[in-house]
Formats: sequence, C-alpha cells, structure tokens
Amino acid sequence: MNELEDLHTILGQEQHARVQLERILHLTNKRLSNTAWSMTSVQEALEEQQTEKLRVIEKAKKEIFMANLKLSSLIRNLPTGVMLEDEEHKVLHTNERFCQIFDFLVPPGLLEGLLANDIFDLVKENCAEPGHFDDEIIRLYLAGSEALLPTIALTNGSVLECSYAPILADNEVAGHLWQFKDITEATKAQQDLIRAKEQAEESVRVKENFLANISHEMRTPMNGILGMADLLGKTDLAEEQKNFLHLIKSSGQNLMMIINDILDAAKLNSGKLHLERISFNIVETVTAAYKSLVYKAEEKKLPYLLGPIEVASPYVEGDPYRLNQVLLNLLNNALKFTLEGEVRLSILVLAETDTNLTVEIQVKDSGIGIAPENLDIIFEGFTQVHAGSDRKFGGTGLGLSISKSLVQQMGGKIWVESKLNEGSTFRFVLTFNKAEKPTEKPTEEIDYAGLGELKVLLAEDNEVNLFLTQTLMENWGFQVDTAVNGLEAVAKASTQAYDVILMDIQMPELNGVDATRKIRNLSEPARARVPIIALTANAFPEDYQHYLANGLNDYLSKPYKEPALFQKISSNLDPAQPKAGKKTSAPKVTPEEKLYDLTHLHSMCRGNEAFFNKMLQVFIDTVPASVVSLETAMLRQDWPNVAEMAHKLKTSFDTMRVSRLKPLIRKLESDAKKQENLAAIPEQVEHISNLTRTLLDQLRLEIKT
Ligand code: ADP
Repeated sequence: MNELEDLHTILGQEQHARVQLERILHLTNKRLSNTAWSMTSVQEALEEQQTEKLRVIEKAKKEIFMANLKLSSLIRNLPTGVMLEDEEHKVLHTNERFCQIFDFLVPPGLLEGLLANDIFDLVKENCAEPGHFDDEIIRLYLAGSEALLPTIALTNGSVLECSYAPILADNEVAGHLWQFKDITEATKAQQDLIRAKEQAEESVRVKENFLANISHEMRTPMNGILGMADLLGKTDLAEEQKNFLHLIKSSGQNLMMIINDILDAAKLNSGKLHLERISFNIVETVTAAYKSLVYKAEEKKLPYLLGPIEVASPYVEGDPYRLNQVLLNLLNNALKFTLEGEVRLSILVLAETDTNLTVEIQVKDSGIGIAPENLDIIFEGFTQVHAGSDRKFGGTGLGLSISKSLVQQMGGKIWVESKLNEGSTFRFVLTFNKAEKPTEKPTEEIDYAGLGELKVLLAEDNEVNLFLTQTLMENWGFQVDTAVNGLEAVAKASTQAYDVILMDIQMPELNGVDATRKIRNLSEPARARVPIIALTANAFPEDYQHYLANGLNDYLSKPYKEPALFQKISSNLDPAQPKAGKKTSAPKVTPEEKLYDLTHLHSMCRGNEAFFNKMLQVFIDTVPASVVSLETAMLRQDWPNVAEMAHKLKTSFDTMRVSRLKPLIRKLESDAKKQENLAAIPEQVEHISNLTRTLLDQLRLEIKT
C-alpha cells in the first residue's frame, strides 16, 4: 500500500511536473516567438534604413552630377578663359575659351594635370612682351592674393585683362583661379572714345580760335572806322557832313553789335561767358534800356510805354549789363516786328523776402505775332521765322538764343506767348539776392593833360588804328613813338626809356606776347620793367590770362574809347619810375607865359580896384601857408589832410584861373582822397609848390599901386 501510495504520489508529482514543464515550455515558446518577431522587425527596419540611405546617396549623386554639369557647362561657355589649378599649381581644369585665347589647338581636357607654369611658358610665346608677362606671373605667385594684372597685349593684337584669385577651403588655400578676359573691343572702343573726345576738343579749340581770329579781323577795322568817325566829329563839319557821319557811326555800331552777338553766342556755347555780380538798381537798368530805344519808337511813330514798374526795394545783386542786353534784344524785336499798336515794358514783383526779390519782366507788343509751331524754335540760334527773301526785318536770328542762355545762366527762365497777327508777350522771371545801395562814385571829369608829357611806345600794325591812337595820345600831350611790328617794338624798347608801351597782340614778324617776353628779358632793369598794356581784339578771358602770364601788365580790348585808353595808361604807370617824358621833370615856365587869367576876377570886382588889390593880396598872403601845410601833410603821409589842403588850394587857384595847376591839384585831391597812386604824390606836391612860387611872383606884379 505504501508502495502504491508512493507510486501514486510519484505519479501525482510527475503529473504536476509535467504540467509545470508544459507551462514553462509554453511560456518559453511564447518568449521565443516574441523574440523572433522583434528580430524580424529590426531586420526590416534596418533594410528600410538602408534603402533610404541609398536613395539619399543616389539623390546626392544626381545633384552633384547636375551641379558638375552646370558648373562645367558654365565654365565651358564662359566668355572668359579660365584655368583652375590646385595648391601645387597643377592644372585641374581649363575651358575652351582659354585655349581659343591663347591659340592652343588641343581640347582643354589635355591640359589638365600639367603644371600651370608649363602652360604659361606656352602662353608667353603669344605675348607681345613675354618678359613683362613673366614678371607679372611671378609677382602674383609671390603675393598669393587676389589681384588684377595690368593688361596683356598678345602678338595677334588682342588685349587681355588677367585676374588671379586663391580658392579657399576651410580657410586653407586649395588652389587658384586664373581668368583671362579679351578686352580688345572694349579697349578699342575706349580708345575711339578718347580719340573722339580729343577731336571734339580740338574742333572746339579750332572754332574758338577761328572766332577769336575773325573777331580780331572784324573788330580791328571796326575800331578804326568808329575811332576815325569820332576824330572826324571833333573837326568842323557842315550840317550835311554831320548827318553822314552820324550814319557812318550808327551803321558801324550796328555792325559791332552783330560781331559782339556772334562772339557772345560762341562764348555761351562753350560756357565761357562770365556774369558780373555787382549791386545795381533794377528799376534804373530797366528804365535806361527803355529810354535808349525811345528814338526808334519815335521814328516808327509807335506808342512806346513803360510800366507798371513798381519795385519797392530795387537794389539787387547781379549783372546789369547782361540784363540790359536781354532787355534791348526783346525791345528791339518788339519795335521791329510791330507796325501798329504799341510796345510796352513792365516789371512785376512775383515774390519778395528779406533777402530775395523775384521779378517778372514783360515786353508786350501788338505786332505780327508768331505762329504756335514756331514759339519754341525762335529761341534756337540762327532762327528767324519771318525771314523772307526780301530780308525785310534784318537781324542774325541770334538775339533770342543769347537772351535765353543769359536768362538761364542768371538762374531764370524766359518764354513767349503769342498769336499770329495779334502780338507777342515775351516774359522772363529772375530771382536776385537783394543788395545794399552801392556807394556812388562821383563821375570824374577826365583831365587829359593830367599825366603830363608821357613818353609812350605804340606798337600796332594796323595803319588806321595806329594813326587813331597816336592822334588821341598826342592830343593829350604825350610823346608817341610807333612800331609796326613786334621786332621793331623790342628794338625801340631796348634803346629808349618809355613810361608805358601799348602793344597790339597780333602783329607780323613777332607777336605782342613774344615781344613782351623779349622786353622783360632786357638787361637794363628799368627798361625790362616798363608797363606794357595789350591792345587786343580777342575777347576770350583765357587770352587775357595768357597775356598776364606772359608779362603784360594789363589789357584793353578793341574798340576802346578815349577815356578807357587814358584810364588804362594812368592806372598802369609805374609811380616809382622817374618819368621818361619831358613835362614831369621841373615845371618850366617861360618868362612871357602867364600862369593865371584875371578876367574872372575883374568881372567879380566890377572896376573896384581896391577890392581887386585886396583879393590879390589875400591870395598872395594865404596860399603859401596852405602850400606849406600841404607839404607837411604829405611828409606825414596824412592823406585826408593832403586831400583837404588840395581842395582848399583848388578853389583859390580857380579864382585866378591857373590853368596849369587845375588838373594837377584835382588829381592830387582825388588820389589822396582815394589813397591811390600814393607814390606819385610827392612829385605832384613838388610840382604844385614850384608852380605856385612862380605864380605868386607873377601876381605880385599885378597889384596896382
Ligand atoms: P533776330 O531778331 O536777329 O532775327 P532773334 O533771335 O532776336 O533774332 O529773333 C528770332 C526770330 O524770332 C525773329 O527773326 C522773328 O522771326 C521772331 N521774333 C522775335 N521777336 C518777335 C516779336 N516780338 N514778334 C514777332 N516775331 C518775333
């Protein structure tokens, strides 16, 4: 039983163990199948990753291929020759253009792997200056930085621009890029442009020269005609002759205006017209322009009106002469193109501030008018829209274009409103800076005897001008020597002393500028220093600069008027130089020459002898003291006092009508007042004092006892 029980127990245990085993087995199986499943999914995931990686690599490969394709087709088609080398200067890549530029008849691929230097040896053979090419390459290799070579000329005439740049990878030089650009066409175009510019400049220069010459050729005889007409006017003429002379003068002046117009147009075109900047009264300028043409309106019996012209503060800063020129042109046109009706000039103030004044100036006429299609073109040079073959109205067609340029240069604008057969209104607007009223200089009457007998050399090849200027100066009491060319002028200036030389510029043999240079080189300092004034018909400012730079002291442009010539000479005299002429040495009075004229005093005294004697006595007693005071003031250089004493003496001398002292004392007074020509004052005072002594001696004899 026990055994059975034992067996039974054993069997039970066995059964239990089997169940347990089965459960364990089942669990193990379960775990194993789980692991197998997860291994499969890991493998699957791995496979998927692999595929993705391959896809990315494929894509990247494709992209690299495309980028390479793009890059190589870009390099292949570049208009520049390219050579890429590695850090050891081994060629990595070149393009077709590179081979073309240097005449290499091989495909670019064949150059790859060679040393850049070996290729440059081949390149050098095509260079116009191989040595220079070598130097530059070496310089670039040594510098190792980005650079642009000076242009390289090839033997086939091409010009190349070469640049060199390191290629950096992670801040390390990984190679170099060479680029060669063919700039033959661009260089040629640039050279053509430079040549064209030079040609244009040359043609402007030729044109200016031509104008300067033509102006000289025309102004010189005009100077002669107008000057001779002036001289003729000073002689006794019958009424009819005076009329003829008047016609000669006015035709001459008209011709002169045309010559000046042509010159102005040329100067405006080349931007060489310079405007003045002075203070002036705009109302006065406008009124004066109006008045100067009243006679024309009267000739045509045309109502000619001025106004409204209300400008409260008329003083402005600008160029009154050029404003006058514009006004005269518009007024002349209005009068010319109006047969009936009226012409009116007016000014409107458009705006005014403390500092600025904007005005509109109008010239309105009721004349023949201008067709709408011509309103703009009349402002172009040489255009006349009423110019029939009969040349009824005359003119050059330059006036309006000059006026427009002048107004524009003054910062304004000009335009016209017009209707055919009804009339025209020309308007221009200008803005000025307001100005103070200029201090008025008293207009001095010129004393042509005031400079004494100056010794002058006049060098001039034009006979009429020579005669004219010589006559004028001899009338002033000058001693005039003449020379008809530059050589003669130099010869005379080297053998004789002159107070001043007047030098025409364009002369045969030797021109005025070269003659001046030779005079400045004379060995005797006083002769080399003589003041030389250019007499010139050239009207360009750079001509003047050229004269002054070459030793001329000043210039006077032809045609000149008597006062201008006198003032030019007077202002250029060298005060430190003793005068070469006679009169300014000691004043000589011949015994029979009476320095005074007592007619005026007699008429004042009306036969009252005592009064007459008293007057003389007072003069004789007081004048010496005044002369002493004058001398003292001069020694002290007290110029206001010199002026005052001269003024006092002037009245006394005038009473006795002392003609020899009249100009002298006036010049002294004015020089001392303005503190001008101070170096000449001692001589003037000495002169006055000597003459006064003789005068007093003579007057003492006049006292009736
Ligand atoms: P010019 O008067 O010497 O011919 P402008 O340049 O002054 O030259 O004038 C050009 C042209 O404009 C004149 O020829 C004329 O045809 C026209 N013109 C100018 N002003 C007037 C005006 N006030 N009335 C009619 N036409 C005019």
